[in-house]
Amino acid sequence: MKLEMERTPVQDLGKYLSNHLFIKRDDLIPYSFGGNKARKAFLFFHEIDNGGNDCVVTYGSGSSNHCRVIANLCAARGLSCYIVSSLEEAKNTFNTQMIKLFGARIITVPMEKVHDTILDIISVLRSEGRDPFFIEGGGHGNIGTKAYIQCYQEILSYEEENKKHFDYIFFASGTGTTHAGLVCGKLMNNDNRRIIGISVARKNPRGRNVIIDSVCSYLGEGFEHESIESAVIFVDDYTGKGYGDTNGDIRAIIRNVIETYGIPLDPIYSGKAFFGMSDYLIKNRIQGANILFLHTGGTPLFFDMLREENTI
Ligand SMILES: *Cc1c(COP(=O)(O)O)cnc(C)c1O
Repeated sequence: MKLEMERTPVQDLGKYLSNHLFIKRDDLIPYSFGGNKARKAFLFFHEIDNGGNDCVVTYGSGSSNHCRVIANLCAARGLSCYIVSSLEEAKNTFNTQMIKLFGARIITVPMEKVHDTILDIISVLRSEGRDPFFIEGGGHGNIGTKAYIQCYQEILSYEEENKKHFDYIFFASGTGTTHAGLVCGKLMNNDNRRIIGISVARKNPRGRNVIIDSVCSYLGEGFEHESIESAVIFVDDYTGKGYGDTNGDIRAIIRNVIETYGIPLDPIYSGKAFFGMSDYLIKNRIQGANILFLHTGGTPLFFDMLREENTI
């Protein structure tokens, strides 16, 4: 599978809660059901394809979008894929089924053993003469950050070509890599807009600090810490009981969005973020602004929701 990336589409959804809403469809990245993990994987596999690695080791739950995409792209190259997963997260989802279909080896261990298990697998592979490439969970790290700087550049080109300016960008923030990339893009271009990550799990101050660290690690010296700090807006009001926790309001908005626009959201990431964005716009009395919602993918989770509830 040769990876090619064109700009993902931006759709004008018209008036929404006294603002003008646009959506950037990273869920439509054209391989492995897209999403931000596919955008990050594009750069990881660029390294792998040029580095001559013969296997990949990563971490994540068996139901994760990240592991689905990595397992898929490994299978396409005939590379073996090792996924270390914590016992606590085991759940049988469409992503799990696809990961198995792609022949990835899932090594399940208790949470506290994950770190050592990864190191063990890498060292065993090396001792067998193999050359593993390691990808952090969720595609976290500078390569993942870079993927979202590129996404930010796409947003700038769209604005320039369409004579538009987005005052706000909203999206689901998990490991914070997507968030860090967008913030780097904003700082590098000295832009004046708000980039607001809706947390799907983490709480402040940790969630925000991880993003600040990622931004600093990518940008290095040369940016004032204060300007970085003020650029990172991490809203943790909508996490509920944490990762994966959802509710009737989120499901109602998912139903509304698929009915109105024909766009699937999922209850763990994009639906939670869309709900959070809507509530944030109302509570902060934001009106007359151009809003961009970045759809980060997770389409298989939409189908998990249908299967679990039999209806939405
Ligand atoms: C992983 C994921 C996110 C969170 O992205 P991070 O870069 O980890 O913050 C958001 N949406 C979807 C659908 C995801 O799979």
